[in-house]
Amino acid sequence: KGSDGKYTVTMIPGDGIGPEVSNAVKEIYDAANVPIKWEEVSVAPFIKDGKQTIPEESIVSIKKNTVALKGPLATPIGKGHVSLNLTLRRTFHLFANVRPCKSIEGFKTAYDNVDTVLIRENTEGEYSGIEHEVVDGVVQSIKLITYEASERVARYAFHHAEQNGRNKVTAVHKAPIMRMSDGMFLHACRQVAKEYPHIAYDEDLLDRACLRIVQDPAPYADRVMVMPNLYGDILSDMCAGLIGGLGLTPSGNIGKDASIFEAVHGSAPDIAGQDKANPTALLLSSIMMLRHMSLFDKADQIENAIFKTIAAGERTGDLGGKLGTRAFTDKIISRL
Ligand code: NAD
Repeated sequence: KGSDGKYTVTMIPGDGIGPEVSNAVKEIYDAANVPIKWEEVSVAPFIKDGKQTIPEESIVSIKKNTVALKGPLATPIGKGHVSLNLTLRRTFHLFANVRPCKSIEGFKTAYDNVDTVLIRENTEGEYSGIEHEVVDGVVQSIKLITYEASERVARYAFHHAEQNGRNKVTAVHKAPIMRMSDGMFLHACRQVAKEYPHIAYDEDLLDRACLRIVQDPAPYADRVMVMPNLYGDILSDMCAGLIGGLGLTPSGNIGKDASIFEAVHGSAPDIAGQDKANPTALLLSSIMMLRHMSLFDKADQIENAIFKTIAAGERTGDLGGKLGTRAFTDKIISRL
């Protein structure tokens, strides 16, 4: 917090629809007088010593501010390219990815009572990035699970449950098949559960959890689900589908050295630059960020304005509405 009473937060506008949705956040925050000063940085990769890397200034900024709001980054495809998202996760030890999905009042979907919170291990598992060709036509991809990372994300899941009035943690797994890796993940969860006797703990198979949530999401509103990387990636998109899609779902990457908040969706190249993107997902991510910073009043004020706008039928195209990103942003501002 600076002498002007404002907090400095790093802003990474991102690729594709990133600049459009980031701009919506900035305009709404200005209109709501949120005490935040944005420090805008680019993470466009460049080559240093023959290796692809991200600009030092972005790392320095996030280290200094410890909180960042990030637009989506397109993952480059091809040899020698690093995933920038993975780089950020590793650089800042962003070990837990928190993904809430809550039905939005006034926007009709198959269920109106979805309220899931999913916490995804964010640094290893199937996304360890260790792959090689054994012989021609045979590749091996390594799923790496460590006790340390499993215990860390499990502890965060219990902490998050406690802080948010949820009385249960469910570990989601495939331990009957992945005996050693998921087996160890479960072992870590069971150990941490002993430290939280007031929070119930149980375990569910990934496939069974998917089936049950789409049949009836109501029982999942009482708990936090925690799981290895890939399962969390897939299950959270499934939950996003239940509340109206990727235009609506926020996330927070919680780390040891910093926390980075971002929408679940990607850079949506198919609609980039066309004033079609729904900024709600990034806005709700920024609201998670405000609560993380204990700016509760501003979070409530902006969240109410968003929900009232959507409930009034003023929506972007992904939700069946006619408004562009800019017009939707103006409607939210008019309700602040
Ligand atoms: P995507 O999420 O970008 O798009 C999937 C579909 O959802 C598209 O039809 C898109 O138009 C729509 N969509 C997404 N966000 C929307 C929004 N806010 N409003 C309206 N419609 C929206 O997924 P993709 O096409 O698989 O990925 C595109 C790029 O983004 C890839 O390079 C991918 O690697 C990257 N990506 C980045 C992140 C991240 O930065 N965290 C996450 C996922 C994907």
